[in-house]
Amino acid sequence: MFNKILIANRGEIALRVLRACKELGIETVAVHSTADADAMHVRLATESVCIGPPAARDSYLKIPEILAACEITGADAVHPGYGFLSENARFAEILNAHNIAFIGPSAEHIRVMGDKIEAKNTARRLGIPVVPGSDGAVTNDEDAHRIAADIGYPVLVKAAAGGGGRGMRVARSEEEMSGALSAARNEAKNAFGDDSVYIEKYLGKPRHIEIQILGDGKGNAIHIGERDCSLQRRHQKVWEEANSPALNQEQRDRIGKVCADAMAAMKYSGVGTIEFLYEDGNFYFIEMNTRLQVEHPVTEMITGIDLVNEQIKVASGAELTIRQSDVTFNGHAIECRINAENPQTFAPSPGRITYYHPPGGLGVRVDSGVYQGYSIPPHYDSLIGKLIVHGRTRVECLMRLRRCLDEFVVDGIQTTIPLFRALVDNQDIANGVYDIHWLEKFLASGQ
Ligand code: ADP
Repeated sequence: MFNKILIANRGEIALRVLRACKELGIETVAVHSTADADAMHVRLATESVCIGPPAARDSYLKIPEILAACEITGADAVHPGYGFLSENARFAEILNAHNIAFIGPSAEHIRVMGDKIEAKNTARRLGIPVVPGSDGAVTNDEDAHRIAADIGYPVLVKAAAGGGGRGMRVARSEEEMSGALSAARNEAKNAFGDDSVYIEKYLGKPRHIEIQILGDGKGNAIHIGERDCSLQRRHQKVWEEANSPALNQEQRDRIGKVCADAMAAMKYSGVGTIEFLYEDGNFYFIEMNTRLQVEHPVTEMITGIDLVNEQIKVASGAELTIRQSDVTFNGHAIECRINAENPQTFAPSPGRITYYHPPGGLGVRVDSGVYQGYSIPPHYDSLIGKLIVHGRTRVECLMRLRRCLDEFVVDGIQTTIPLFRALVDNQDIANGVYDIHWLEKFLASGQ
């Protein structure tokens, strides 16, 4: 087992990882920018090292600085959290070259899954269902029109190098195809410096359902159920739940097994998430995330499995100790991502928290690095915490969530808590009937 883990991240996830390390008896190193000197995980870590000024490109993304911090402190492993360097294959390679373990999959697996076209081809080869579309990048317009006609309109033109929902355009008919192609190419060129695009069947009203997987790199892999993350704003997840209100146990077992078998065949190591769009009973692979996800706690709440603990153990070379038959799903969990934002305009609202009172009680978990008197710096994303609630049934979970949202007080800044208060009282949410467009429509309706 590792002696000392350097946590190459900030905010709530840095604290989440620190907690897992402590419970495993592993020392921790917090690296932080000058803007994060007061962060809770910095206070709680065994050691801390300041690695640069506030801008992430000068601190959390600076590989040489992080490497130097490992050398100074004698850390033997790095946990990258999510975002920042967590899906940077070169970072994993550099650490390995210095005999420091990267707590995540192999650099090769990060690279394959980081390329959308290669990821899709790999998924298809491993028996994972994918969205019908072009076999790879489409370079000339004639091919694009022919492929689109074969698939049938509407189609989606997507940037091969895409991310964050950018470089995507819908073409609803032949007439819209040329415009969609040039718009997607331009946006991709500007955002990623690469204008390759590919074409997919456009699904009109899918849900976003993702499967959590865990592998040990030795050919053992399991799935840990699904999360429904259909409630999104601008392709950013807002509310996640497990189990999905749309799936039954038979469907869960079936798609879960497909994913676990694929990960075993690929000898995947660590935690990962296989993301699907789900429509009319069918799953369509969109991408794989080769890291821990923001919404991992909902899976932990219904299974009792500590995903970060398991991630650290397999990274240290241990074999998987959990078998598929050990994984059972108990009750229902919902996570609300609480952002420091105006709940109507979503404009960022950094600043000092003058009063802070998080909810508590049975089945309640708050993952957050903030505290009363803490100043939220303006330099990073606006996620300040996650409220995760468990109930024996979805109805009980919603009742508890409503109660927790009433208790939650964060003064001095604006947060998205009022949005969740509205959602928890909505009839569609209560019924579990929503697709990936539902939240945008709800917000546009001004309710
Ligand atoms: P990114 O890496 O930019 O996030 P994804 O491929 O994960 O791109 O897609 C982002 C979002 O775009 C999905 O969550 C979904 O809302 C939408 N989307 C992607 N592919 C399709 C498709 N074929 N049909 C309909 N919507 C899609």
